[in-house]
Amino acid sequence: MRTPALELMDVRAGYGGIEVLHGVDLVVPDGSLVALLGPNGAGKTTTLQVVDGRLLPSAGCVHIGGRHVNGTPAQRLARAGVCSIPEGRGVFPNLSVDENLLMVTQLHDDLAPSEVRERAFARFPNLANRRRLLAGSLSGGEQQMLAMARAIVTDPALLLIDEPSMGLAPVVVDAIYDVLKHLTAEGMTVLLVEQFANKAMSIADYAAVMINGRISVFCEPADLENVVGAYLGVSA
Ligand code: ATP
Repeated sequence: MRTPALELMDVRAGYGGIEVLHGVDLVVPDGSLVALLGPNGAGKTTTLQVVDGRLLPSAGCVHIGGRHVNGTPAQRLARAGVCSIPEGRGVFPNLSVDENLLMVTQLHDDLAPSEVRERAFARFPNLANRRRLLAGSLSGGEQQMLAMARAIVTDPALLLIDEPSMGLAPVVVDAIYDVLKHLTAEGMTVLLVEQFANKAMSIADYAAVMINGRISVFCEPADLENVVGAYLGVSA
């Protein structure tokens, strides 16, 4: 069996002594998209923070590509190919689209600015016309595309993306999911946190349902349909 892109084993973590993750076990197979679902406050964002190095787990193991990474600084993980798009997108509103894109060259000094632009605009042609605009003047969907462009140009080994559809119109959400679908078809490994369970399941290889800081269900999307209503009470 291929080494999983990501493996969490009995991971515990929290904030200021209050435990939020109570022993998370999760495997993200290489080249797959795993949708991490669950109600508000279940611990999904906290899980992403543990994986991308923003939060140190208090117990358990985090393996990325088979390597134990607990305690590795976020910057070093980012250089090693762990790319995180946070809830709210993390673009810098007072910088231009171009400047936001070129920020990746600070972490990845092997990437030339011309290469960054070429890769970003090939995937997101609309951003090319807007490259001189301030990122803060873009629509929410365009900002999400910019965040995704910035991530994708680094060709990450593991993409973590938190609630990409938050606050966006359905047609924009569809466009974002189209991009994610293409990325996984091209072999990218993705851990996607999403409130819209049905939307996420339309592109996921596996669904993981988190309840109260633990993974309660891990299965293929077709199998989740029977239990998703009972667990989540949501629809896309
Ligand atoms: P949501 O969709 O609401 O973000 P989630 O499943 O992503 O839900 P988390 O954001 O991981 O949940 O939050 C899990 C718990 O940890 C919640 O009770 C939340 O209030 C708490 N929490 C999150 N961030 C912090 C923080 N920085 N300091 C203290 N508590 C926090």
